[in-house]
Amino acid sequence: MKHFVELLLNKNNSKSNGQVPFIERRKGIEIKSSREIKLMKKSSRIVATVLREIIDFVKPGMSTLELDEFAEQRITDMGAKPSFKGYHGFPGSICSSINNEVVHGIPNKKKIIRSGDLVKIDTGAYLNGYHGDSCVTICIGKVDESVQLLSDVAHQALTAGLNKIKAGNSLLDIAGAIEDVVLSNGFSVVEDYTGHGVGRNLHEEPSVFNFRTKDLPNITLREGMTLAVEPIINQGSKFCKTLNDRWTVVTKDGKLSSQWEHTVVVLSDGIEILTDRNF
Ligand code: MG
Ligand code: MG
Repeated sequence: MKHFVELLLNKNNSKSNGQVPFIERRKGIEIKSSREIKLMKKSSRIVATVLREIIDFVKPGMSTLELDEFAEQRITDMGAKPSFKGYHGFPGSICSSINNEVVHGIPNKKKIIRSGDLVKIDTGAYLNGYHGDSCVTICIGKVDESVQLLSDVAHQALTAGLNKIKAGNSLLDIAGAIEDVVLSNGFSVVEDYTGHGVGRNLHEEPSVFNFRTKDLPNITLREGMTLAVEPIINQGSKFCKTLNDRWTVVTKDGKLSSQWEHTVVVLSDGIEILTDRNF
């Protein structure tokens, strides 16, 4: 997701209302040392482990709070801290966003997951000074073909974006690849929220946007940059709104939304996916 801090800064003037997302405080893009990347691998591996476990654990009838408690326990068991909990006041260790909810869904014991739902689980872990950040979309039980397709296309978009990452390529290469996959399948790219640098802070520069734009800095990628790439795509229009709980973002038209995210490190000839769940 786009930085929580940006959400707060932009919540009344986001792209849906005609304004471009931005990063308020510029600190520059950090190039991580091999030591730092090793540390990020550890926190990212915890994120990957928890998401893998949640994919197995989640069942119809569970509440999103049960998933949150499970995630917090597992992150803590592995010696890390949940990156999201308390971040700008966010109450959960995961963001759990169901169906038309786009991002930042607050875990709630009254929010029951049903067969046929499209559930996005986003989580982060902080260990030894570094964060990892990843999100999956889970199809619960038997879902409609169109629901599965949305998730599949969001995943393809992430893969297409990741395939463009290597030193010398640019953020626009990533964005273009993502946008092409999404638009060619008749879906839309959410513009209010972007990926980001990640490391000592959960959200760092640059904004890793998922659509072609001249309004955000097009950075040339360098070896050692660590990025969270996270296309968010909608079944209908790209426009979103934030609910009165000040966090949960939903599609304006009530249609579905899907998101996948990985934390990666840029290499000379490609990437290493630090939150890879295949280990
Ligand atoms: Mg993120
Ligand atoms: Mg995330």
